[in-house]
Amino acid sequence: MNTEKITSTTVAFIGLGAMGYRMAAHLPKKFAQVQVYNRTFKKAEQHASEYSTQAVTLAEAVQADIIFSCLPTSAEVASIISQHTPKAGSVWVDCTSGVPSVAQQLASTLAQHGSAFLDAPVSGQTTGAENGTLTVMVGGDATALAKAKPAIDCFAGLIEHVGESGAGFAVKAINNTLLAANLWAASEGLSILKAHGVNLTNALNCINASSGQSLASSNILPNRVLNRQFPNTFALNLLAKDCGIAIDLQQQKQTPSPMLAQVASLCRAASNQHTAGSADFSDMVKLLEDWTGIEIS
Ligand code: NDP
Repeated sequence: MNTEKITSTTVAFIGLGAMGYRMAAHLPKKFAQVQVYNRTFKKAEQHASEYSTQAVTLAEAVQADIIFSCLPTSAEVASIISQHTPKAGSVWVDCTSGVPSVAQQLASTLAQHGSAFLDAPVSGQTTGAENGTLTVMVGGDATALAKAKPAIDCFAGLIEHVGESGAGFAVKAINNTLLAANLWAASEGLSILKAHGVNLTNALNCINASSGQSLASSNILPNRVLNRQFPNTFALNLLAKDCGIAIDLQQQKQTPSPMLAQVASLCRAASNQHTAGSADFSDMVKLLEDWTGIEIS
């Protein structure tokens, strides 16, 4: 196996949260110069000592050849870009689950400085980030993607170029709204079964070997809800944000989508029950449990 690292390209990662910390950990396997920045700087220093990356200031990070960001929303990314201009020839790869129209604005802003912006949100949860098997849905310029691909490859299982600027964010928003829909629908189904005295583990064994199966039934419900663990790995308010982006897209084109609109409302209502960031996305089902009086366990 060729273990020589790439020395000609500096890679930076901004935002070492639940996803970013793990995604950035794969980069030093291929690149000799990996810089990390985090608002709470201690996390960057911890990353540097754990993975032999280099903790740098934000101003330094944005001068890399390939700049990754993974922040809660497009607002934080736009704010950073408004204060720091990357160098000409660089590619900014935004792995935030963001807003398509902001991707288009940022791509056009960076193009004026000779650099490129790719919206490249990811899917696969923190375990996918840990294992380097994330699905990356990319919107933007194909040449910029070819340049950034060796770096994205470090944490990806699938990289799909889905269209022009904003397309990656759009696909991600719809994907996560489908996750919320599947989770809510499966939870309603299990409530009905429990009311009829059916054992839910047995029921899921059947559903997961049948046509009603989804990630919600095979993974989220057994590993987070039925066991009452609700591990906090993906914030409910971020899922509600993603559903909101999907509904904004729907409204822009007036494509009727009553079911997804309903799911987005349910997700927002569930999120509003918690202070920001304090609940896992699987806590969404507790809103249903409050209504039905039936615990999904
Ligand atoms: P976290 O809340 O764990 O991390 C957010 C990161 O952003 C932290 O590093 C935080 O810094 C930083 N940050 C927050 N606000 C600011 C700011 N104003 N300026 C600079 N930095 C800031 O989020 P996740 O890692 O879970 O999610 C990141 C993105 O990835 C989101 O868009 C999410 O929707 C998406 N995503 C999440 C998945 C998951 O399973 N968690 C799966 C797929 C996508 P600090 O440490 O200082 O708070």
